[in-house]
Amino acid sequence: MENLSIEKRYKIISDENKELKKRNQKLEEQNTQLLSIIENLSEGVMFANNKGDFIMVNSEARRVIYKSDIGINIADAFKNIEVFDIFGKQLAFKDFPSVRALRGEKSKNVRIFVRHPNKEYYAEISSTPIYNAKGDLTIIVSCFHDITETINQSRKIEEQKKELEAIIENIADSIAIFDDKGKYILVNKTSRELFHASYNSMDNISEGYDTSEFYDTYGKQLDSENIPANRVMRGEEFKNMRVIVKSPNKTLQVDINGTPIYDSNGKFSLGVLCSRDMTDYFKHEEITRSRYEFLNNMVNTFDLPVVRLTCPDFKIVDINKKGLSIVESLKPKIKSITQIKGNKIEDLFGKFKSSEYYKCISEVLKDKKIKYLNKRSLILNGNEVYFNVVFEPIFEVNSEIREIVILLIDVTPEIKSNMVMKKALKMQGEFLVNVSHELKTPLNVIFATAQLFNLYCTSGSLDDKKDSIIKYIESIKQNSYRLSKIINNIVDLSKIEAGFYKLNLSNNNIVEIVEEIVVSLTNLTDSKGLNIVFDTDCEENIIACDTEKIERIVLNLISNAIKFSDKGDEIFVCVKNKNKNKFVEISVKDNGIGIEEEHLDIIFDRFSQVDKSLSRNAEGTGIGLSLVKSIVELHGGSIYVESEFGKGSKFTVRLPKNKVLNENMLYSSNVRSRDENIQVELSDVYS
Ligand code: ADP
Repeated sequence: MENLSIEKRYKIISDENKELKKRNQKLEEQNTQLLSIIENLSEGVMFANNKGDFIMVNSEARRVIYKSDIGINIADAFKNIEVFDIFGKQLAFKDFPSVRALRGEKSKNVRIFVRHPNKEYYAEISSTPIYNAKGDLTIIVSCFHDITETINQSRKIEEQKKELEAIIENIADSIAIFDDKGKYILVNKTSRELFHASYNSMDNISEGYDTSEFYDTYGKQLDSENIPANRVMRGEEFKNMRVIVKSPNKTLQVDINGTPIYDSNGKFSLGVLCSRDMTDYFKHEEITRSRYEFLNNMVNTFDLPVVRLTCPDFKIVDINKKGLSIVESLKPKIKSITQIKGNKIEDLFGKFKSSEYYKCISEVLKDKKIKYLNKRSLILNGNEVYFNVVFEPIFEVNSEIREIVILLIDVTPEIKSNMVMKKALKMQGEFLVNVSHELKTPLNVIFATAQLFNLYCTSGSLDDKKDSIIKYIESIKQNSYRLSKIINNIVDLSKIEAGFYKLNLSNNNIVEIVEEIVVSLTNLTDSKGLNIVFDTDCEENIIACDTEKIERIVLNLISNAIKFSDKGDEIFVCVKNKNKNKFVEISVKDNGIGIEEEHLDIIFDRFSQVDKSLSRNAEGTGIGLSLVKSIVELHGGSIYVESEFGKGSKFTVRLPKNKVLNENMLYSSNVRSRDENIQVELSDVYS
């Protein structure tokens, strides 16, 4: 250069100047561009010199920091604000990132909260010191942006997360969430109480399986791959999987829902198990079921037909055994309860809708009240059976009728005994008519005789009429016997019924007793033109009996035979050993009018008399045979009759051949002689 001419040197310098100017111009252009870029950045940017005096503050920075607060120095920007770190701790001026940068400290993404009288905001700020070539700090740059919105949103999300966690924590169902490695992320309170007593967030699903065993409802243990958590891990979703979980100190029955959750790439990220403890529910269900079974068994054992019908379609829900037996006999095709259950009543009983039962059920539905059908008869297995039918509505909680229970109460015995009672009352009435007639006849005779005697006395003709008086006295005696017989029979029958009638048992030759009676009656039978015959298979037959009562039995039977026989007929009295000497049979057979077959059953009943018009020459009250039967039975024996209407009758008395060790020979002053007995017992056949 030294050798160059001035012109040349000037030219070079001038060129260099030009070049410098150009560069300078370019640099300024670039500077302007850079400043414009910085000015328009969405980030707040501020430059300050090493004294903290602002060199540049871009528009965003001016917006965020209160405009009027931006003075010359950084300290000016602090005069109206308080700054806190993200945890709420107040920052001293010296700890502010820009101020720290003045000291050469670099800070990155420091989150701060700024409180200004006119506004509050969160910001994220980074400050950097810049050094020149000599290493002197010349400039600091601080970049920041408003993160209020982001912070508020993440706070909101955090709050919602907490709310959600609180809900999950306190929900009555058990919830457990685990990740793709099986590690528990969340186990709520119910789940901890039920399954994870010593829950630790590091636990893995597999650890629960070391202490618990899983069974299905049939009691079969689940293999590892069917354990609920493992099914979810495999990506299965399921609902209400019923599992029995046995752990060392308890056994639970749980319903489990399992849901796998996938990330945006479709990869399994979380598994959710939601379980409900059904142990108590099943216990109650079990108790209810066993109570129901108990009731059902009870209802089944009832000797009372019970049917349950649904409403309003009258389908049979259930029927007990007794009810089934009735349906079976009405519908022989039906053999089992399953054939009946679920059927509509009208399908089983075609005419149901037109029946009075249907009408009654309709009334139950209308009035919502129990209804009855009384004394309805059914023919079951050939027998007429009477029922009172009860229709009882069973209500839902909303007081709608859910079912109708039908009970059939068998009132056959009651109805039949009513019938018997009515018949007995009718017979008693007839008896009273007969008795009063029987009592009146001898009384009339006695009364008329007394009047006659009175006439004889007043007319002084007693002596003249001596013969006829003796005849009349005989008639009084005869009619007194008749009265005596009636009264004796009534009194004895009452005694027997009340249990006061006692036998005086002694060991006697029954053949002799019967034969003597027959012999003493021959005069009477002769006078009636009847032939009486006695027969026996042995001469002596000693049995324990009450002689007087045996006489009454035999006299009663012979008296009937005489009453219902005609002149020329024969009466055959026989004493025989029977059943290898176990019994003695006394039979009285006649060939009189006989008894119609339909009356054979009733003649031993109290007060029963075959139609009086048929028993021509008969007098009587209808209690003789009933008394005979009772006395025979008191001796431990029995009586039966064989008869053919128009041909004659045979009455047979069977007495056991017992003997008594202590003979009861009580003699009462009331005991009558045999003759007197004959007079009394045959009083109605003596004419
Ligand atoms: P009564 O005192 O009326 O004779 P019984 O009890 O002795 O009553 O007899 C009842 C009925 O039985 C009689 O009314 C009669 O109809 C019938 N009867 C009893 N014995 C005979 C017989 N030997 N022959 C025909 N009918 C008889």
